[in-house]
Amino acid sequence: MSRYAAHLPLTGVGAEGQQRLQAAHVALIGIGGLGCAVAQYLVASGIGQLTLCDFDTVAESNLARQILYRQSDLGRLKTDAASVALQALNPETRLHCINRRMTDADLHTLLPGCDLVIDASDNYGTRLAVNRACLALKKPWIMAACIRMEGQIMVLRPDTPAQACYRCVYGTAPETLEDCPGAGIFAPVAGIIGVSAAYFALTHLAGKTQAAGLHLFDAVDWQWRTLGIQKKTACRDCGETANHLTR
Ligand SMILES: [Zn+2]
Repeated sequence: MSRYAAHLPLTGVGAEGQQRLQAAHVALIGIGGLGCAVAQYLVASGIGQLTLCDFDTVAESNLARQILYRQSDLGRLKTDAASVALQALNPETRLHCINRRMTDADLHTLLPGCDLVIDASDNYGTRLAVNRACLALKKPWIMAACIRMEGQIMVLRPDTPAQACYRCVYGTAPETLEDCPGAGIFAPVAGIIGVSAAYFALTHLAGKTQAAGLHLFDAVDWQWRTLGIQKKTACRDCGETANHLTR
């Protein structure tokens, strides 16, 4: 426990919260710029188990912001390179790797054994799949995204009645939004949003109830703001006619 000594005096964490972290299993979807930052803080903070999901290999253009990877990792699977780096950081965390694009079936197999899901992927289709699976399984999850000089985070609680889902908030946005290489991403912004997602994950797992809301960060003006989120009764994924609820 001395590794986590600085957590013990904290209101909201303490020895009990730390034990909850060490008993928790988190699924992390995507280990790019956001996922690398999230994973480091989860593992360093003593999360019990972490499942890393990514189908990609390390490219040179990743190295500016995907800080778990080294020059020598070019061409390696991200799951392999990340798990080596994370295990060196903290051998107490049990790491699992899934190195393919997550399907609905994969999510329905993985999620029942997890306490929390973090979506740090870079595409809308994956987030909608995570949304559907988490609704069906009533799993809390955190959505984190960043582009250019902006980022956003939302803690979603399908296990809490009447809370909005991701589809309620984003509606029918196109399945392919612009991606980071095309639109650009400033490296520290990915780190700020990733570490913020780790904060929400760790405090949630330690026992804090997070207020619902969409947290938006604008690095240019250095501003955070939080928008309220509203459940839509006609939502295709969580509304009264959504078919996953009867699966
Ligand atoms: Zn909804």
